[in-house]
Amino acid sequence: MVSFALHGIGVSGGIAIGRAQLVSHATREVAHYTIPLAQVPSEIERFTTAIGEVKNELEGLHAALTSGDAPGEFGAFLDIHAMILNDPTLSEAPKRIIAEQRCNAEWALTLQMGVLVEQFDQIEDSYLRERKADVVQVGERVLKRLMGRPGTIPPAGVEEQTILVAHDLSPADVIQFKQHHFAAFLTDLGGVTSHTAIVARGLNVPAVVATHNARQLIRDGEMMIVDGSNHVVIVNPDRAVLAEYRLKQNEFDLARQKLRRLRSKRADTLDGVHIELHANIELPEDIEHALKNGATGIGLFRSEFLFLNRTGLPSEDEQFEAFRKVAEGMQGMPVTIRTFDLGADKQQADLEGLARVAPNPALGLRAIRFCLAEPRLFLTQLRAILRATHYGNVRILLPMLASSSEIDQALAMVARARESLREQNVPFNPDVQIGGMIEIPAAVLAMGAFLRKLDFLSIGTNDLIQYTLAVDRADDAVSHLFDPMHPAVLRLIALAIGTASKAKVPIAVCGEMAGDLQSTRLLLGLGLREFSMHPSHLLGVKQRVLQTDVTATEPWVERIRRADEPDKLAMLLARLNA
Ligand code: PEP
Ligand code: MG
Repeated sequence: MVSFALHGIGVSGGIAIGRAQLVSHATREVAHYTIPLAQVPSEIERFTTAIGEVKNELEGLHAALTSGDAPGEFGAFLDIHAMILNDPTLSEAPKRIIAEQRCNAEWALTLQMGVLVEQFDQIEDSYLRERKADVVQVGERVLKRLMGRPGTIPPAGVEEQTILVAHDLSPADVIQFKQHHFAAFLTDLGGVTSHTAIVARGLNVPAVVATHNARQLIRDGEMMIVDGSNHVVIVNPDRAVLAEYRLKQNEFDLARQKLRRLRSKRADTLDGVHIELHANIELPEDIEHALKNGATGIGLFRSEFLFLNRTGLPSEDEQFEAFRKVAEGMQGMPVTIRTFDLGADKQQADLEGLARVAPNPALGLRAIRFCLAEPRLFLTQLRAILRATHYGNVRILLPMLASSSEIDQALAMVARARESLREQNVPFNPDVQIGGMIEIPAAVLAMGAFLRKLDFLSIGTNDLIQYTLAVDRADDAVSHLFDPMHPAVLRLIALAIGTASKAKVPIAVCGEMAGDLQSTRLLLGLGLREFSMHPSHLLGVKQRVLQTDVTATEPWVERIRRADEPDKLAMLLARLNA
């Protein structure tokens, strides 16, 4: 077994040792590997079995159709697929490729599909040319059979030694893995603050994204080490490396255990400044983890996750139950529910027509824009949140605001939701606080309306960085340009905190920067007193808060604010964090 290392971006720290489980989604994820000569007959057999299974699948579909009242063209369509499947160019040629090239069946089929697609592209007749899509669909059906079901979850009992390897996963895919206990997680694509990475962090296991071709290079069942803290993956490690990493793993776990002692300690700096450390959650179940890590509130409940992985939309009652669970579970501590931020990389099947067609989704109908464009959905959610205010200390947070008129429209919607509840005598807290997210440079540069109209603010650094630097946070090709320490970003954050503090409007940071130890002292020095982060970062940040004298940081922070050379900035930051 050849040992090799892959580098990516560690989005969740720690070390995991386990075996690879490839998660398949599309033809572009097909692995390519050579097989020993002796394995050729069994590989051909595997291919033949997959063809047989798809044949049965198509026949089953046909039988189901003929017993129902589906239009005749569906039957004809299935007949075409059956014909394509039986054609030797698809069902026989890959066997020859397996034997000649000694490659895996998936790869042989992919090669042959490439040949067929090319032939179709050259056909003049437009009707025949369009049959290319059918060939691809049939080929993909066979591929899926060969590769296992998409997102196949390993059997219970072996999860803890299983490392998931995927080309790309949507946030919706990852959230499904929350019920499982995988050892680690890696993907070819993704940026450090992509929602996929954020949710992966929520799995509390080491995770590395942007490995580029892990999915191609790693084979099912291979032994691997994932070192999320050092952004590296080692495949087929030798014994010495394995022993070294087992030691490191123990050290890491020990350090984590030590941090647990800080759970109920108040987060006060050395010079006595109290800091609120809140948690970001995606689902109601996450509050258990937040409480275990000593969160003194929920600073960001990404409510859009209630809309993912389902058919249909969550009803008002269903959303209310989720919000009430969090409100009650947090026992009087603040619970900040962000109205749904759907669009961009978080899509819901039933809303696809509305959001996915955007030519540039991150700049399109996302978050508050989407809420205002879909008032019925927005009202349903606002009613659900307002109802939950009766059961705990719930606040409403509006995402991605850019202008004063959006605030007015959103507040008018809240007023409508209140009115309708009042008419129905449904209890809610009439003094519920309403806040806004600061995630667009325009919001920082024209903050007056935000300060006058809203009760509190929260800086979403993930989007603020994306929109300031014009770097798509989910695109691994530009992830090296995603820089939280860019002088422009730091100045915007400093301006936002300074302006809000002067106006005595509470302001928090709830982007990934809040949980990054490199930024803790800097943010404290800039005047930040409320942080909200992934629960697993809470205790580390608390430790840093306990070791910081805010007054002593201020001169350094002032110099950092003025610096615009990256080297100088890095030097000053290192001194601040020393
Ligand atoms: C942010 O943009 O920093 C933020 C907290 O919101 P999200 O990551 O959900 O876009
Ligand atoms: Mg955001």
